[in-house]
Amino acid sequence: MKHSLKTLIMASALIATTACTGVGDTTQHQTTTTTTEVSVQHIRNATVKITYGETTFLVDPMLAGKGAYPGFEGTYNSHLRNPLVDLPMPTEQLLANVDAVIVTHTHLDHWDDAAQQVIPKALPLFVQNEADAKTVRDQGFTDVRVLDQSAEFAGVTLQKTGGQHGEDSVYAVPPVAQMLGEVMGVLFSAPNAKQVYLAGDTVWRPEVEQVLKAEQPEVIILNTGAAVINGFEQAPILMGTSDTLRVHQMLPNASIVAVHMDAVNHMTVSRADLQQFVDTQEISATVRIPADGETLSF
Ligand SMILES: [Zn+2]
Repeated sequence: MKHSLKTLIMASALIATTACTGVGDTTQHQTTTTTTEVSVQHIRNATVKITYGETTFLVDPMLAGKGAYPGFEGTYNSHLRNPLVDLPMPTEQLLANVDAVIVTHTHLDHWDDAAQQVIPKALPLFVQNEADAKTVRDQGFTDVRVLDQSAEFAGVTLQKTGGQHGEDSVYAVPPVAQMLGEVMGVLFSAPNAKQVYLAGDTVWRPEVEQVLKAEQPEVIILNTGAAVINGFEQAPILMGTSDTLRVHQMLPNASIVAVHMDAVNHMTVSRADLQQFVDTQEISATVRIPADGETLSF
């Protein structure tokens, strides 16, 4: 059964041996734990595939070829066309094993025309609220589910997490606030598997800090391109280098997967910039910056 986690569990036996030594007496007991493999495949921009056992979620699909759309008007480097690069694989291959789609918000760089065309209309698709559900249903999708607080899919629990696509100073300008809109993140959990926290298009916020503190996820996907709207150069609308460090400092043992760089016009932090930063900070052991198409296993 493809959708049952029980059959997806890779039986890797962790043998914990405890020796209790008394006088002339040694007792040993063994515990066997099964673990579910978790992998994160970075596709491009914010598009990632997250797999628990054999259940695969496609998050924030932007699937157009290089240069399909004009740059985002009124943003940094808007003369460049989006996406800046091609997908690392054909879309058929990309979609082959996808069981459900998650759209954190409906900005073009997370849910584009190409994705709407090629993703099968009956695939289960999670969105953040009723407004986005209506948008996506109007595009022809038939199994659209609003992630109110949490949901279960094939043995994987999805929890909606909060965030904001810019600082309060940016949201104080009504047309900008309207354009940026609401966003969500998602926390993935399953029995005997590492938790993955996908923060989404958010800046550092109390909501992010709260998830890190309360859940202590082992894997954290951050959108770290520090995108900039013209006129708000001091207040990027995504995390950047210093936020990466801040997350690392809160959870030094967590693996950070940094994405949303080098693929759309308005990013001010590239992978090379971030790599240089993490090298300087000596945190490159826990901050991973995958190439397009690269899969990381946890
Ligand atoms: Zn984005």
